[in-house]
Amino acid sequence: MNKIKDISNSQIRFIRVLWCDNANIIRAKAVCVDSVNDQEVAVGISRGQQGVPVMYDGVVAGCGLDPVGEITLKGDMSTLTPIPYAPGHARVMGDMFIEDKVWENCPRGFLKRMITKLQKEGLEVKAAFENEFYLLKQKWKNNHKNIRNGLSVEPSDFTPFSSSFSMDLNHNIIMDIVEALIVQNITVEQYYPESGPGQHEITVGYTDALGAASNQIVFRETVKAIASKHNLRGSFLPKIFPDKAANGCHLHLSLWKDDKNILHDPECKYGLSETGKQFIAGILYHLPALMAITTPIPRSYRRIRPQMWSGAYQVWGLNNREAAIRVIREDDGKVRHFELKTVDASANPYLALGVVIAAGLDGIQEKMVLEKPVQLDPATLSTREMDEMGVKPLPGNMGETLDNLEKDEVILNAMGENLSRSYLAVKKTEYETLKNLPSAKEVELLLEKY
Ligand code: GLU
Ligand code: MG
Repeated sequence: MNKIKDISNSQIRFIRVLWCDNANIIRAKAVCVDSVNDQEVAVGISRGQQGVPVMYDGVVAGCGLDPVGEITLKGDMSTLTPIPYAPGHARVMGDMFIEDKVWENCPRGFLKRMITKLQKEGLEVKAAFENEFYLLKQKWKNNHKNIRNGLSVEPSDFTPFSSSFSMDLNHNIIMDIVEALIVQNITVEQYYPESGPGQHEITVGYTDALGAASNQIVFRETVKAIASKHNLRGSFLPKIFPDKAANGCHLHLSLWKDDKNILHDPECKYGLSETGKQFIAGILYHLPALMAITTPIPRSYRRIRPQMWSGAYQVWGLNNREAAIRVIREDDGKVRHFELKTVDASANPYLALGVVIAAGLDGIQEKMVLEKPVQLDPATLSTREMDEMGVKPLPGNMGETLDNLEKDEVILNAMGENLSRSYLAVKKTEYETLKNLPSAKEVELLLEKY
């Protein structure tokens, strides 16, 4: 369904026009169907919206934006979908326009620009975000004895990785989530309880880059909305409980030419095509800067730790779950995709995919050389062995990645002057506020947002 007239004959009363800002808050304005014509749905928002941090609704200094000036958010009608858990509402992803041109600060516009740049090389990326999330119970707010670690929530159960009992305990809620995803045109692949208590993973099929980023928005909205209907809270926050497994959102990628996956080449080293190797080399090279966009909150760095399968080292490996880039070689020896582990769901998916494409493209254009794969757990190496093998730990805090991003001309140029300025201003303000917060306060502030 993608025409408003089809919708207006149904029970839909409102169409939500969504945007996802630099802080990765999903926002919307809803328009009553009686007030829109058949061709398009659009709402006005302030330019200042791209200068708002996660902590409050206000424009940060230095972002180059102020409350003066209007943006038109136009719905992309190909994304129009009724929202199964919100009867009477449909959703459409919004593109930001200024004076009839795509606004440079628009995250979807940025991803589309990167897709077009890659197309000029005859290439296309397909992708899927692999989400982990917690289901949490709200604790009795006034009873301080119940508030362990200063948190107002606790895991909904205490089952371990892949516990089939957890599947039974959570059957109703998981089925509601999965049904809702499917009717919103998302292909569901696998489900299992993850390692953390109350943590789950539902994997979805890959699609074109823009579609994958939009699916990520739908996925986050759906899990959170359905959890609340079951009197639980769903959260993708990268690290909720300091001593329990984190929420990753690994980004799965493949590279295509003329509708053929071109990552694999049996004649090439590691079974990886030359273009595939260069693309991966580009992502690895820019990773210390990219992380300011793919793992974009101070809390992200409590997740990226050795021996947590979160990719703490700037290396790649074949089927190595401790490498930032795990190239998946399947049983038949073929490489069809790879995953970038240094991504979490606090990242705006359009920006994250956009910068990953920009980095990979730089690898191709500069014919970057992919170093040898690391086929062991880097945490087991001594400092000397790490030096000899060229194994480097990735940045351990948001301050470092922001500094790296500021120096990375390729990524900044790809984002463009306006988007990079607003993004850096928002993220620096967030970092300055959040870096000194006690852990539990940070979690309480962010739990609902991500
Ligand atoms: N929870 C891990 C992370 O933070 C990922 C575990 C897995 O590989 O599924 O990335
Ligand atoms: Mg997992």
